[in-house]
Amino acid sequence: MIDAQAVRTWLEDKGVKGCSACKGEELQVSKDLYALVCINRTTGGPDMQRGSRVVRLRCGHCGHLMLFHARQMGLE
Ligand SMILES: [Zn+2]
Repeated sequence: MIDAQAVRTWLEDKGVKGCSACKGEELQVSKDLYALVCINRTTGGPDMQRGSRVVRLRCGHCGHLMLFHARQMGLE
């Protein structure tokens, strides 16, 4: 489970404020990490060996999704 307050503190430290689409201020932090996986060029299917773990932020106003790299945020 992700520490939403730690994420909010990290975002604040980096100067990330609100939704990048509508400028709304209600950002919801995902409870779990998500996987951003590469597509294998040969098979066209997901390549589970390559990808990133990400935190998902969802704007409570417009639904815009933002992804942040979990390792860079110190979450893995
Ligand atoms: Zn928005």
